[in-house]
This record gives sequence, C-alpha cells and structure tokens, in this order.
Amino acid sequence: MYEVRAPGRVNLIGEHTDYTGGDVMPVATDLHTSLVADPADAVEIRSDALDATGRFDPTEFDSDGTWLDYVKGVYHALRAAGHNPGGFRGELGGDLPLGSGLSSSASLELAVLAFLEEAYDLGVDRTELARLGRRVENDYVGVSCGIMDQFAVALCRANTALHIDTETLDYDPVSIPADARVLVFHTGVERELVESAYNERRSTVEAALSRLGRDSSKAVTEADLAALSGVERRRLGYLRRENRRVVEAKDALAAGDLDRFGDVLVTAHRDIAGNYEASCPELDFVVRAAVDAGAHGARLTGAGWGGAAVVIVDADRAESVARGLETRYADRYPEHDSETYLIAPAGGVTVRTRE
Ligand code: ADP
Ligand code: MG
Repeated sequence: MYEVRAPGRVNLIGEHTDYTGGDVMPVATDLHTSLVADPADAVEIRSDALDATGRFDPTEFDSDGTWLDYVKGVYHALRAAGHNPGGFRGELGGDLPLGSGLSSSASLELAVLAFLEEAYDLGVDRTELARLGRRVENDYVGVSCGIMDQFAVALCRANTALHIDTETLDYDPVSIPADARVLVFHTGVERELVESAYNERRSTVEAALSRLGRDSSKAVTEADLAALSGVERRRLGYLRRENRRVVEAKDALAAGDLDRFGDVLVTAHRDIAGNYEASCPELDFVVRAAVDAGAHGARLTGAGWGGAAVVIVDADRAESVARGLETRYADRYPEHDSETYLIAPAGGVTVRTRE
C-alpha cells in the first residue's frame, strides 16, 4: 500500500511570468491531496471530493472530458516519455479545495505521477515529474499553463518559498520568516473569462517576444520596450518589472523584512491591474482592504480575473486580519461567497509505503 501526499500551491509573486521563461516564487500548501493506492492491472480510482469512481485500461483509453482525464493524461504523458507503468486501485482524499486557485489539478497529477514512479520504479526525478505534469494539462486536458504549479507541488520545501527560473528550471529555496503567515482569500468570483483572456495575453507577449528575438521576458531591455508600442509595450513592460520584483521580494523575504516584501506585493498588484489588465474590482478591493485590516501586503494570485488574492500577515495578527478582511468584503460584496485559507508552507509531494 502506498500513501501519497501532494500539496497545492500559492504563488507569492511572479504572475503570468511562467509562460515567458520568467521568474516565479510559489509556496506549497499544507492543504493537500492524498492518494492511497496499490498497483493493479487496470486503473480504478475513487475521488472522495467528487464522490465518483473512474475506471480505464492503462494500455487503451480515450479522453472523456471529466476529472478522469487528469489521470488518463498522466498515462498519456508517461507513455510519450517512454514509460509504460501498469494500473492501480486507489482513493483520492485530502483537504485541498478543487477549483479554488490552489492548483488541485497539479496536485492530482503529481500525486498519481509520484505514486506510479515509486510503485513501478520508473526512475524519474521530481523535476521531470513536474514537466510530465505540465504535459498532462497542455497536451491532454487542454490547459495551456506554464510549469510553475507542477514544479511547486513537486519540489517545494516546508517553511520555504521556491524562487524558480522557469526558463532554466534552476530553483532556490527562500526561508519564510517564522512570524509571517500566508492567507489566501478567495473572492468567490468565477473566472469566466479566464481562458480567453489568458490565451490572448499569451499570444500578445509571445508574438512580441519573438519579434524582438528574445527567448525570455527576463531578457527584455528598456530599448526593446521603446521599440514596441501600445498594448505590447504595456504587457511586456509589466513582465519585465514583475521579473525584477520577484528578485526584490526574495531579497526582502530572506532579510526578514516583511514590510518591504508586502510593499513589493502591493506594487505588483497595481502593475498587473493597470498594465496586464488581469485584475477585477473585487481583487482590487481585497488588496486595499487587506492592507487596511493590518496586512503587510497582498496581491492577486493564480492568474487573476477573479479567483484568489494572497495576503502576507504577522502570525499574531493573522486571525484578526482574516476576520477584518472577511467583514469588509462581505459588506461590500454580499453577493459573493468568499473563503479564507490560512496556509502553512509545506514540502512537495511525498510517497510512503505501508504494510
Ligand atoms: P485548480 O487547479 O485551481 O484547483 P482546475 O480547474 O485547474 O482548478 O482543476 C480542478 C479540477 O481538477 C477539478 O475540477 C477536477 O477535475 C480535478 N481534480 C483535482 N483534484 C481532484 C480530486 N481530488 N478528485 C477528482 N478530481 C480532482
Ligand atoms: Mg489547475
């Protein structure tokens, strides 16, 4: 019997940079997906969260447009990489909310990947597992995400953020000061436009980068920006500044300077709202209200256009900031069902065997 624990992730800073080879700095969450499984010929997997069971033959299957595609996609990605693991019987549980911007999809992918890696001795390291998880979303489920989510779920460490260069996949753990807490405030705003808006942002910046002959948004210079105009200049200008802010935020965190760290987050939020146009009134409100309620800083996280904000607070104020923020938000937006999560930064996916 194998017991897998795969965290979710919250990105502290570096938003929309991960599809242009830029920098990001996520943490993994103690909220997690669990998978208890045994090898078998076929795949039979039950999801507690969805109260559903899926079955398929790992040597022959078709996409069916349901949650099971995340599991089929794992087999698809492994096969494309030359691996042919057998099936399993397993049960998915845990306390990570689905579809709340904490990346339950990457968590599910990495739970299944890490289990198969261990149970079938595939000899694949955690970085490669992250790449395969991304392939599940890009090639099978049809979500054109960057690699940040899977990388964080695969490789984060407890009480640290991970500074990742998404072009080279070099990464660097950054300790989170013991007196800092991470809150995730979900606005309850459905992200209806997210897919089209996300794809539109991607094609704009990818086209601009390729015209400039730059592989990464980190290589963009002031002269490059001056050669662009209109929306391309604003989008790429944001990415160039955001990459720099990731490094600034990392330095502030490493120095234990939460005020400075919080200020960088608020600046990042204003920039993404104004120049990448990925915010919404509710998220702008949350960032202001969080600071008013006593947080060091806050910004939208997980792409934007609704969804969640990340808030940095002192440990001894975490409860009061959370309650203050909830009250302010409920007064202003009584029509939305918000949710607050207090996150303890956790380690990446683990697999244990049990007799
Ligand atoms: P997020 O990754 O932000 O949570 P997504 O829409 O990318 O949101 O992924 C959520 C989807 O992932 C769910 O709708 C479901 O299809 C799948 N999923 C994630 N965790 C589970 C689980 N424990 N059981 C079944 N499906 C899951
Ligand atoms: Mg997801």
